Amino acid sequence: MKSKGAVYLVGAGPGDAGLLTLRGAELLRHADMVIYDLLVNPALLRLAREDAEIISRGKRTEFSQEQINSLMIAKAREGKTVVRLKGGDPYIFGRGGEEAEALAAAKIHFEVVPGVSSIVAAPNYAGIPLTHRDFCSSFTVITGHEDPADEKASVRHEQIAKIPGTKVVLMGTENLGDWTKSLIAHGMPPETPVAIVESGTLGKQKSVSGTLATIAKLAAEKNISPPALTVVGDVVKLRGKLNWFENLPLFGKRIVVTRSRVQIAKFSKKLSELGAEVLEIPAIKGADPDNKQDFIDALLSLNSYDWLVFTSANGVATFFEFFFRRFHDLRDIGGAKIAAVGPATVAKLRELHLQVDLMPEEFIGRKIAEAFVKHGSIENTKICLLRAENANRDLPDALEEMGAIVDDIGLYKTVAETEDFSGAAENLLAHGADWITFTSGSTVEFFHARFDLPRLMKQFPQIKIASIGPETSKSIRALKLEPAIETKEHTTDGLIKELLHPR
Ligand code: SAH
Repeated sequence: MKSKGAVYLVGAGPGDAGLLTLRGAELLRHADMVIYDLLVNPALLRLAREDAEIISRGKRTEFSQEQINSLMIAKAREGKTVVRLKGGDPYIFGRGGEEAEALAAAKIHFEVVPGVSSIVAAPNYAGIPLTHRDFCSSFTVITGHEDPADEKASVRHEQIAKIPGTKVVLMGTENLGDWTKSLIAHGMPPETPVAIVESGTLGKQKSVSGTLATIAKLAAEKNISPPALTVVGDVVKLRGKLNWFENLPLFGKRIVVTRSRVQIAKFSKKLSELGAEVLEIPAIKGADPDNKQDFIDALLSLNSYDWLVFTSANGVATFFEFFFRRFHDLRDIGGAKIAAVGPATVAKLRELHLQVDLMPEEFIGRKIAEAFVKHGSIENTKICLLRAENANRDLPDALEEMGAIVDDIGLYKTVAETEDFSGAAENLLAHGADWITFTSGSTVEFFHARFDLPRLMKQFPQIKIASIGPETSKSIRALKLEPAIETKEHTTDGLIKELLHPR
């Protein structure tokens, strides 16, 4: 469809992934190549196509500005759509203007998508409106990285000190002591309220308030480091009333989520919305089963079964992905009854408007088999178990003991996830966490194989374990560890409820 290449300079917003614009998200979904900076939340890359080429410009993979410019130009000339994701708004202190100039000079089609700048977003998430009728009706934004004593500095503190209204200082963490002193020296009252906000809008946001005279010391004590911005002015006083983000119930908690990459987003989004800092470290991923033939045979003889049994939402998704590759009519599923273990599995089937005939309430193999028998005798009935290839034998054994004829079909295989997409694994090893959440026995086992869970907990004694239910806890206890919470409902919502009110 598209033959001419283009470059889109897209504002990625200040951190919180929800603050990307709709236009930005749309472009990201179509991009052939995405180039992003250190300040950009890597979670946004989930929106990109799986085959998109992704280039990160970070501390370790340092490209020069010239290299970035020529890469964008070369790719666009090849006919590619390039999205250049930049933190906050692309044109604010981010050399976006220079990049656009280079594209214009090369006669490349380019567009610039504004972003939510940290200038407004970080103060907001720290409880500070930049203007307020009771306090001021203007604000001034400056950079704090210039030396105030430098005669050639473009920011003149003698002028800044005289402007009424709020001041927002970007890139001013390292020189905080110098420029606050300089503003006082030029006449600003030392008791002017000041707040500094690090990693604003993210779960790991830190903030400190003080005055022009005290903030440098307070920030050093709290170890505030870039990226951070400083707000100077009376509006800072409103924090006490308006600090909605830092008052969210899970704010300040670091929570590790270990579900597979395809399932992780929903759970971690809910946690983030409650203010948590979420470390996404998928421990498992689904792979094709070793034995695909059994699955194909089962698909071709669905009509011969009395029961189809699903044990996970992922199993339902995988089953229907293959089903619809072969059949084009849902009626080809035949007349078998459907059983589903777990509310998420039931929900996934209901999305397809399939009614579930049996929902065992407990998750242990024997209890599930008993639920079948309660429904009616299963002697000589043909049951097709559609689940992970390497799942344990408890359920089929129990069903067979009660007289059923069981085909245990592997839809997928659970294998270890070893990539560290967002740097969260490295972050965990360096700084620990408050909670590690497990949603299945296999997440425990593969996570342990990668991180040595008992050792990790010894190194960071504050870590607590949250288990989704008794089966998952079994794998935790096998490591001689005890979960601090275990849900009864066996759902991620249940986990969240417990995390909000741990006993
Ligand atoms: N274009 C960006 C700013 C880039 S300059 C924007 O519009 O937000 C980098 C500076 O922005 C940092 O030194 C810091 O002062 C500020 N900054 C960026 N993201 C921030 C965040 N999440 N919290 C606090 N300050 C941030």
